[in-house]
Amino acid sequence: ETQSTKQRSPVYPPGVERRVFDEAVNELRDQLGADHVTLNNQPLKDGWYMEHPNTHDMMYVLDQDELVPSAMVYPGSTEEVQQVVRWANKYHIPIFPISMGRNFGYGGAAPRVRGSVLVDLGRRMNKILDINPDDYTCLVEPGVSFFALYDEVKRRGYNHLWIDTPDVGGGSVIGNTVDRGVGYTPYGDHWAVHSGLEVVLPTAEVIRTGMGALPGNNTVLSTNPFLRMQWQAFPYGFGPYSDGIFSQSNYGIVTKMGMALMPNPGGFESFAYTFPKEEDLTQLIEIIRPLRISNILENAAQLRHVIQSIAVLGKPRSTYYKGEGAIPIDIIHKAVSETALGDHTWIYFGMSYGPPHIRKYKLDIIDAEFNKVPGAQRIDPTTLSPDEYFWARDKIASGTPDVQELRWVQWVPNGAHIAFSPVSPIRGADATRLIEMARRRHDEFGIDLLPAFIVGLREMHLIVEIVFDRTDGARRKAALDCLRAMIDDAAAYGYGEYRTHLVLMDQIAGTYNWNDGALMKFNEKLKDALDPNGILAPGRCGIWPRKYRGRGWEM
Ligand code: ADP
Repeated sequence: ETQSTKQRSPVYPPGVERRVFDEAVNELRDQLGADHVTLNNQPLKDGWYMEHPNTHDMMYVLDQDELVPSAMVYPGSTEEVQQVVRWANKYHIPIFPISMGRNFGYGGAAPRVRGSVLVDLGRRMNKILDINPDDYTCLVEPGVSFFALYDEVKRRGYNHLWIDTPDVGGGSVIGNTVDRGVGYTPYGDHWAVHSGLEVVLPTAEVIRTGMGALPGNNTVLSTNPFLRMQWQAFPYGFGPYSDGIFSQSNYGIVTKMGMALMPNPGGFESFAYTFPKEEDLTQLIEIIRPLRISNILENAAQLRHVIQSIAVLGKPRSTYYKGEGAIPIDIIHKAVSETALGDHTWIYFGMSYGPPHIRKYKLDIIDAEFNKVPGAQRIDPTTLSPDEYFWARDKIASGTPDVQELRWVQWVPNGAHIAFSPVSPIRGADATRLIEMARRRHDEFGIDLLPAFIVGLREMHLIVEIVFDRTDGARRKAALDCLRAMIDDAAAYGYGEYRTHLVLMDQIAGTYNWNDGALMKFNEKLKDALDPNGILAPGRCGIWPRKYRGRGWEM
């Protein structure tokens, strides 16, 4: 944990006079209660994942004090969110909504514009409004984490329902979904399985999408079960499907979201295969593609590089290597030879769902296909101790939240991480090209390459997590320079990222520039129409309101 000891001077929103800001804060305190509006003027404490700060990005890649809000506000209801939005419009103060702020690697709780007022929705709006055991749906507020939803399903004894969780389960279901995060059951594409939103618009009106726009269904907490069931049953409603513009954007504040839950498949079985050589990647990806598209491989595949098998043990890299530059690969191979997994270069983690006879059909096909790679080995789970990473994947792929994935953040002292995550077709040639490109840049900047491929359905993401010492300005800069170089390299081949950290949003939005930036022009038109004062999360996902454009805000 790092903690600055120097007293911090207050931060103000851009273009707002101090006197006006102080007056505005007092007004908001009168409306929401003094406890629910806090100034961000105390020393910044990084904490850790479960006790994360909302005062800054604890995995800062710029200076710790760079992406910070001026104040944090805690609305307790949709009406109070509307009040905050009206207030922001009155004083032209930028606000930045978060659900829980555990968006590690993508900016955490931080706003894009320094001095924005952080609207921390999760602190008080954290109710599970509904879990419908007949329709297999739920309706949640922003402060509901994957852990909380899981616990509540268990508490109610709904063993026939599964939730889906991302790699780390402490984040908000809404926050993760609107940022288009993923998990590892067949319901892992969270955005695809969400159903119905309640959104406060930047001018403070409230809308409900899908079937929630029918007045009868608006009684979410109605005691009439017939009315309660309608909203989540069908995601589209009638007319334009507006939900899309509220993901990875700055067009609204999501105050409720519905989601489909997966039926318990009646059994599950994790499997892992190791493959010996770097070059096996091309053949493997070709094998994975048809199996994944035809759903023989039923969940988002994880193909991880051997260095991850070592990093996820949670010991720092200095245990293995004290030299300069990227860690030599033979040191990694030697270390992994001494583990239960044995020596390998790639390891595939997957899960088969259903009762035994259904699983056997799929697992036999997978076994035959994976064994086409010379030297492929199926890991026997009975040989693995309970704290092996295999069991963390087993939990996640069966919808049980976990935090073991975070262990590799300890790879360097004061570890922080930031990801490069380009999307490509599932082709061996693409996989090889992406890895080679990433390796070249990592070597240039003396950074260990920690790659994994996540195969969605018809695409894969290469996920490269750069782990850096956040207290070391030179290592932060190396991480950022390496990322910026990889983003441009990838774009030159037609690969774009699926999600990113606050500081890279402008660059990545800039790569999606076909037809003279037509898509961003359209996004800006929407922004100006929906948010005429430009108060809501300016700059998020590269979308700047009119009054910020062309004034040097992009980075
Ligand atoms: P998590 O709780 O999963 O860590 P966050 O709450 O940090 O996720 O959300 C990730 C990002 O998504 C935020 O930085 C914010 O820009 C956006 N976001 C999160 N929740 C909402 C919401 N309820 N309405 C609008 N945008 C949101």
